[in-house]
Amino acid sequence: MASRTLETDYLVVGCGVGGMAFTDSLIAASDAQVVMIDCRHAPGGHWNDAYPFVRLHQPSLFYGVNSMPLGNDSIDRDGLNKGLYERAGGPEICAYFDRVMRERLLPSGQVRYFPLSQYVGENRFLSRLSGDEHHVRVRRKLVDATYLEPSVPATTEAPFEVGPGVRCVPLGELPALTENADGYTIIGAGKTAMDACLWLLEVGVPPEEIRWIKPREPWLINRAYFQGGKLVVNSYEGISRYMEAAAQARSADDFFARLGAAGWLLRTDESVWPTMFKGALATEAELEQLRRIEDVVRLGHVQRIERDAIVLDDGTVRTTAGQLHVHCAASGHNQAPGIPLFTDHRITVQQIRAGVFAFSNAFTGYVEATRGETAAKNRLCPPNRAPHVALDLPRGQLVDSRAAEQWSGEPDVQEWLRSSRLYWLHGLDRDSDEPRVREAHRRLTEYIGPGLSNLDGLLAQAPERR
Ligand SMILES: Cc1cc2nc3c(=O)[nH]c(=O)nc-3n(C[C@H](O)[C@H](O)[C@H](O)COP(=O)(O)OP(=O)(O)OC[C@H]3O[C@@H](n4cnc5c(N)ncnc54)[C@H](O)[C@@H]3O)c2cc1C
Repeated sequence: MASRTLETDYLVVGCGVGGMAFTDSLIAASDAQVVMIDCRHAPGGHWNDAYPFVRLHQPSLFYGVNSMPLGNDSIDRDGLNKGLYERAGGPEICAYFDRVMRERLLPSGQVRYFPLSQYVGENRFLSRLSGDEHHVRVRRKLVDATYLEPSVPATTEAPFEVGPGVRCVPLGELPALTENADGYTIIGAGKTAMDACLWLLEVGVPPEEIRWIKPREPWLINRAYFQGGKLVVNSYEGISRYMEAAAQARSADDFFARLGAAGWLLRTDESVWPTMFKGALATEAELEQLRRIEDVVRLGHVQRIERDAIVLDDGTVRTTAGQLHVHCAASGHNQAPGIPLFTDHRITVQQIRAGVFAFSNAFTGYVEATRGETAAKNRLCPPNRAPHVALDLPRGQLVDSRAAEQWSGEPDVQEWLRSSRLYWLHGLDRDSDEPRVREAHRRLTEYIGPGLSNLDGLLAQAPERR
């Protein structure tokens, strides 16, 4: 097996949205040379393994890399996302990242790409096919774009035992099923479980044949408040309503109740108080469909599935050999603790702005290209850990607000935000005279100060996040 040496400014490990969005912005603002590697055969990270009916839960409008649009910026005219911006599916996202690599990154002359290459530490990687070794002399930094690799059902074993003779598949296998099932038991409470239920209903499975095991109940963000383009005012209005609720809340529960009353947060079942928040987005129309499923099991996590029984933390329910159990119980977003993004020799790509990975990664690339001191970079890019429980919503908001305060003092950052397709309020200045924008602005100005200090106070009384 051969051994070779390469030299570069940056070695980027991981070509998911993290590595791709970072590199795209880095090379747009500098003449840096970059080597990108990934153990997968194509760029796009976890999307390469996603279930066939996966979609972004946010609009395509602000996902991907900064320099290339994803999708056609069209508004859906039909279906459960009607009236809102289109959301790309898995194959479209993979094709997009392939184009970004072939049409932007490689033609720049600044990037070399090594697929099927496993990073093994100390700036070395091995070809997964030939076993050849590359040693990389890194002039500036190693970029770890693997730190937040999510865990998805296709590549993560179910976190419960499955006994002999039990039919249990990850949700990605549903479209390829050849054998009928007596019924479907969906296991999981998050976005993938919702997608599995919605897909089964869409292809005509009667709701009575679906049983949904939900260990916890999630708060969901109303996708109508997470829009750009012609609907960017929705997002701005949403932020102002959020701050109004934050300013007026008398307790953490009251804050969530107010966000629910304002329609900014949604829940599938109005009779169950959610304890989970993972940043998933949904529409009212999706929830209407999900409410058709009446057999909802709330007995904690599944411990094991036997041939005739499902054993959960708080009880047992019957099952049959003909029942298909669907594993939607991977943890999804990576819960790794936030660590400084920048050290003198390493960048650990993470989320900065809650819920917008692509923006965060692209912004990190811009900051790396345009700032010298490590401390200055970290001030602009605080890590914002992926949410897990309800209180992580306001926790993430406080990190967002502190970062925005830092950005407000930097004219070039303001300019970058204004021109970035990934910025969630992109285009708002264009609509600044609209009455809805003016009203949202008035509300935001009134409530942002008291809202943030009230959230700070509410969180000070809450237990620290582990
Ligand atoms: C179903 C689903 C829907 C989502 N929807 C949205 C959305 O709507 N909006 C949004 O902002 N985010 C969304 N996300 C989150 C987002 O897409 C990413 O999960 C998140 O940004 C993390 O991306 P990443 O690039 O860090 O991870 P990945 O996409 O996992 O990329 C990491 C890459 O690193 C490679 N790698 C790991 N170890 C090594 C090694 N040793 N050597 C070489 N390569 C290695 C892996 O092969 C992988 O390709 C969604 C996630 C999921 C699972």
